[in-house]
Amino acid sequence: LVTRLKPFTSTIFAEMSQLATEQGAINLGQGFPDTDGPEAMLAAAQKAIASGDNQYPPGPGIPELRAAVARQQARDYHLDYDPQTEVLITVGATEAISAAVVGLVEPGREVVMIEPFYDAYAAAVAIAGGVRRTVPLRREGDGFVLDRDALQQAVTDHTALIIVNTPHNPTGTVLTDNDLSAIARVCVDHDVPALTDEVYEHLVFDDRVQRPLASLPGMRERTLRISSAAKTFNVTGWKVGWISGPPQLVAAVRAAKQYLTYVGSGPFQPAVALALDTEDAWVHRSRADLQRKRDLLTTALREVGFDVISSEGTYFVCADARPLGYEDGTAFCLDLPRTVGVAAVPVSAFVDDSAPWKSMVRFAFAKRDDVIAEAAERLLHLR
Ligand code: PMP
Ligand code: GLN
Repeated sequence: LVTRLKPFTSTIFAEMSQLATEQGAINLGQGFPDTDGPEAMLAAAQKAIASGDNQYPPGPGIPELRAAVARQQARDYHLDYDPQTEVLITVGATEAISAAVVGLVEPGREVVMIEPFYDAYAAAVAIAGGVRRTVPLRREGDGFVLDRDALQQAVTDHTALIIVNTPHNPTGTVLTDNDLSAIARVCVDHDVPALTDEVYEHLVFDDRVQRPLASLPGMRERTLRISSAAKTFNVTGWKVGWISGPPQLVAAVRAAKQYLTYVGSGPFQPAVALALDTEDAWVHRSRADLQRKRDLLTTALREVGFDVISSEGTYFVCADARPLGYEDGTAFCLDLPRTVGVAAVPVSAFVDDSAPWKSMVRFAFAKRDDVIAEAAERLLHLR
């Protein structure tokens, strides 16, 4: 039996969530919020179902949602996309990632990505028969920085695509303008397309602003930009995502998408369109809330004795468990649900070269305040 994707048989998120459920632990492993999104958006989805909007939507997504996606990018970043030819609705960001990689990467060609990398990138490259090359983030003081020398070396004539994720899962790093400029330069110099995963675009803290790679000189025409309703509107279960870029790149993604899923779920699409057009205030509140939750969990983890790296965005904060006497983050995370009743995820699950990341653990803070407080209490038992 040939099982090409054997290394991807299970995901770290599913494993840790299962452990959390079995042990009755608080799940700070898998990144999903425990409160609902905007009420008008939830009502719009119910109304769509009740009014009979239950058959296949158009292949590229309903026109209202494609137009709303284009409007949001024009409003927030002055990026203009034609909703007809330059926006495609996908089954979450996950399908946008897979369809883009399958649509653009020939077997044997290389895909450059930042390490640690979100697990779906590695799986998508394996599905396409491509080869992954990584560019590490390195610890510098209280944060992580991109290794720009490694970036220069990684991108060559063999590169088919570079995947850039900012705000970055799992580290919570927001790439600096200098990092983005360095990435843009190699893309332009080698004429390589970029795939940017910006699902946490609205979740950036401390007055940082999201700067899409597509807005840099020379990048609009060679970037596919991905986002999703999941993290913006607290609907990780709806699986509504999108990808925007120049027509020929979007057409390549659409060719793959047609045969992966054909279309996404219909009734959620008008609801997400409504939210994109009308819920900016909700999104701002959600960002401020999350920043406060980041502070709560960061303070708690520091009190326990972790070496915590500052999170600049996303749902996540990373902490080194060595000061507590744990060298192996995977063993630590496997024990944690049973020993103290909290689940977390080892960062080594997101890397090829695990040495620098071995004792690093990711915690999710997109949880109710009382849940964070209870987790903090339980974690104090580690002292
Ligand atoms: N990219 C990153 C960086 C993520 O953290 C996630 C998980 N939300 C996804 C993609 C997948 O997004 P979706 O749930 O919309 O498929
Ligand atoms: N993106 C979420 C995380 O990083 C979960 C995604 C998943 O379960 N595959 O935790």
